Amino acid sequence: MLVVSNIRAGYDQIPVLHGVALSVTAGEVVALLGRNGAGKTTLLRTLAGELPVRGGLVRLDSQDVTKIRAYRRARAGIAHVPQGRGIFGRLTVEENLEVGTRAAIGRRKADVRDEVYEIFPVLRERRNQLAGTFSGGQQQMLAIARALCGQPKVLLLDEPSEGIQPNIVQQIAELVLKLAADKGIAVLLVEQNLEFVLHAASRCLVMDKGRIVHTGLTTEFRNEALLKELLAL
Ligand code: ATP
Repeated sequence: MLVVSNIRAGYDQIPVLHGVALSVTAGEVVALLGRNGAGKTTLLRTLAGELPVRGGLVRLDSQDVTKIRAYRRARAGIAHVPQGRGIFGRLTVEENLEVGTRAAIGRRKADVRDEVYEIFPVLRERRNQLAGTFSGGQQQMLAIARALCGQPKVLLLDEPSEGIQPNIVQQIAELVLKLAADKGIAVLLVEQNLEFVLHAASRCLVMDKGRIVHTGLTTEFRNEALLKELLAL
């Protein structure tokens, strides 16, 4: 589904990613771990088309999307929920979702929105409420719902549990897992919260200094000593 080979990217004169390769298949949830500054956010931004690729390939199914800009990459099927969620606090829930449906092609936008409301009934109930009045957990749900309005094949989530009450974290993890399973979406997420990772992800990739230095099944990461060793690279 999503296949990334030998990606290099960064900011102006600063190279950050030094040849990253990974793949995520339909219905799979993969977590990207690593200490601060390892390049996780940079990788997601590069895959979303926000940062230019300086080398390597990004392929979605059989389509080469390496050089496609963010807007068209969203249409091709890669949705990105950035760190901090990027929702519009002064817009209502429905208006936020409307922005998301711009990436949807080939279907009536109202149908797509209704389908998303079925997954998130709480958002339908509050569709006229301003997004800025929501709790962290509700905002994260809205951000994921908005991404789903583009009918993505791949969902990139940057720290979905950030700023969310601990009792809601598991709920969001289960939601992500269910989306992947029911809709066959390939999910790649950056996450510091291990409870979230253990709940949602079947595989983990560990990044350090712009490279993937370890990959394994999530069950392997239940071993705390190993995890500490890997994340203290
Ligand atoms: P964190 O969990 O702290 O966000 P991360 O693994 O996501 O860590 P990145 O945010 O991708 O790491 O940062 C990787 C490197 O790129 C760091 O050295 C960081 O200082 C640098 N960097 C990040 N954003 C920018 C930017 N906008 N301009 C220049 N350098 C940046």
